[in-house]
Amino acid sequence: MAAFRCSSLRKLSSAITQCSYHQRQLSYGRYLLAQDQARFFPAKTSPMLPPGTFDGKIAFITGGATGLGKGLALNLSQLGATVIIASRSADKLKSAANEISEKTGNKVADYRLDVRDPAAIKSVFDDIETNHGLPDLIVNNAAGNFISPSERLSPNAFAVVINIVLNGTAYITLDVGKRLIKAKKGASFLAVSADYADCGSGFVIHSAAAKAGVEALTRSLAAEWGRYGMRFNAISPGPVETKGAFSRLDPTGQFMGKYMEKIPAGRIGEIGEFTNLATYLLSDYASWISGQIIRLNGGEYPCTAGLFNDLKQVTNEQWDQLEAMIKNVKGS
Ligand code: NAP
Repeated sequence: MAAFRCSSLRKLSSAITQCSYHQRQLSYGRYLLAQDQARFFPAKTSPMLPPGTFDGKIAFITGGATGLGKGLALNLSQLGATVIIASRSADKLKSAANEISEKTGNKVADYRLDVRDPAAIKSVFDDIETNHGLPDLIVNNAAGNFISPSERLSPNAFAVVINIVLNGTAYITLDVGKRLIKAKKGASFLAVSADYADCGSGFVIHSAAAKAGVEALTRSLAAEWGRYGMRFNAISPGPVETKGAFSRLDPTGQFMGKYMEKIPAGRIGEIGEFTNLATYLLSDYASWISGQIIRLNGGEYPCTAGLFNDLKQVTNEQWDQLEAMIKNVKGS
């Protein structure tokens, strides 16, 4: 019986390897973007909220010139908001602001800003308050991240990510929050976290620690500043292809192919799916939602958390064998 078990299990394990290989499907560019079941989970990316949802609103987005932040800036502008984007690269800011404004016909302002610098944040919000008015929607999206074995991380490398992600979010929120309180104006805040923030992840401990802090800040201020008319939520996305994220988290494109097997929806996310959730959470349709961290990851989290979830690769014939083996067990 023991010999039967060993050889059976060896066959099973090799079948699992082959099976997972065959399940992978489309290869698109450098990245393997989907498994077979992805056809059941089509990405609907057109703006889902009604036109004019953000008429008369001012939205401020850090990191709004690229990736997810740029997608959100476009969607908010399409829905009527005056959008203000802020980050470090003046060229990217100008080009994104022009592109969005040309597409939507709405005003898009841009500010060069390093979110690590509280004095620069003060001067940007002084200008915004004078020239545009205080924002109604504030999105803390700017981030830095890269993969590294933790034993190779210098104190400086760790501090850079903490300073952008956690301190930058806190500095922006505290500066604009104090102004909003003084002006007796409510607002909706959204932070962009990451899906490993509460379980942690090796090789990105700087980012995991910073995002966990951002999530704690989100819940804490939701509790404290509701009395001033402010809501705080966060989105925790799984992988969405952007140059900024993928070039530093998966430079060879190999890791994403393996990761895809852990996503029950069988594909990575799209920017339009992120922006639809983000605009909903920022809008008055979500007025009764505060202090929430919403996962947007195709079901990846429960899938990677459960010890036995790799058994989904076992075939029906293999289950017949396993069932027979289990039934034959006598006693404990
Ligand atoms: P991205 O395009 O690289 O966006 C990051 C943005 O942050 C850039 O526009 C960058 O602009 C800005 N930024 C970086 N350092 C800054 C600083 N010190 N001051 C001001 N702005 C700064 O990557 P993304 O994928 O769209 O990421 C957007 C957010 O989603 C991030 O919070 C990221 O952690 C989160 N996220 C993304 C994924 C994903 O798969 N894409 C998954 C989970 C979470 P400058 O360099 O010009 O300053």
